[in-house]
Amino acid sequence: MTAGTMQALRKPRPEPGAQIESVPVPAVRPGEVLVRVRAASICGTDLHIYHWDQWSASRLHPPLTFGHEFCGVVEAVGEGVTEFRPGERVTAEMHLACHHCRPCRAGQPHLCQNVRIVGIDQDGCFAEFVRIPATNVWKLNDAIPDHYAAIMDPLGNAVHSVLAGPITGCTVAVTGCGPIGLMCIAVAKACGCSTLYATEVSPHREKLAREMGADLVLNPRETDAAARVLAETHGEGVDVLLEMSGNPGAIRQGFHMLRPGGRASLLGIPGEPVTLDLLPDVIFKGATVLGIYGRRMFETWLQMDALLRERRLNLEPLFKERLQLGEYARAFQLLEQGAAGKVLLVPDGAK
Ligand code: ZN
Ligand code: ZN
Repeated sequence: MTAGTMQALRKPRPEPGAQIESVPVPAVRPGEVLVRVRAASICGTDLHIYHWDQWSASRLHPPLTFGHEFCGVVEAVGEGVTEFRPGERVTAEMHLACHHCRPCRAGQPHLCQNVRIVGIDQDGCFAEFVRIPATNVWKLNDAIPDHYAAIMDPLGNAVHSVLAGPITGCTVAVTGCGPIGLMCIAVAKACGCSTLYATEVSPHREKLAREMGADLVLNPRETDAAARVLAETHGEGVDVLLEMSGNPGAIRQGFHMLRPGGRASLLGIPGEPVTLDLLPDVIFKGATVLGIYGRRMFETWLQMDALLRERRLNLEPLFKERLQLGEYARAFQLLEQGAAGKVLLVPDGAK
């Protein structure tokens, strides 16, 4: 059994910043798995927590170890856990559903109304160890390398967005090439989409979008992206819109690009209410508009597992930086500058 203390990246007080602290290794309780973290990855949400924005202040109750993207090895299992053994490589779905609310009972636990998130509502994975209910732990196939396993949470968002409707043989527009937008490009291509158009304002991410497989990447600050996509598709528009930016202008542009009868998966989170011209862009188009939140438990995980174990996805362009947990300040800085796709944090001393 593991006793003693561990290093963890903590939000000690309700204010901007974070610090490395020495805290007790969590004691594994019945039904739980204690995982030794091998690699963690930083989500955009962690940046909000780091800077302590309005959302963080309303949701989090420090002191808290944050972080919710990771992979590791089972260190110990609690009473009653029979499906995992110490030494097994795992990651986890960090949204803990209540199993009692209406969506949970109707088979949609990803929409749980009482969801608790590991790394937001309880101690997360920016630490040497993290404790997770066994029901949420996901055993990793040997073919899935650690760095891919560490980002299965956001990759699940991408897989859910892409596979929420038909994709094979479809033309696609991805608006916004942050990490999840970039992953959407790889997933849509792997699933056999036809021409994929992407829009992005950052030159660094434009380049990454091409590396991930986008056929044409447009900068909406330099060109009328909607007009160009319409011209490229004989005035028809694309079959599928994957909206990843949350930017009101990009959302409107995305709907202009969508063909009549097309499908829009909306995942980007706008910071304000968005105005759409519903009549031409949604109603007369007969568009199917889908809100995408989280990952289906565990249908999306099964799809993701299949794509990864058969090595259908090349996500390598995303991984430029791998830092020690103690170098968190530099990691957050790199992400803010948009200079990195995904930054991995490795607990100090981990192999
Ligand atoms: Zn996240
Ligand atoms: Zn629920």
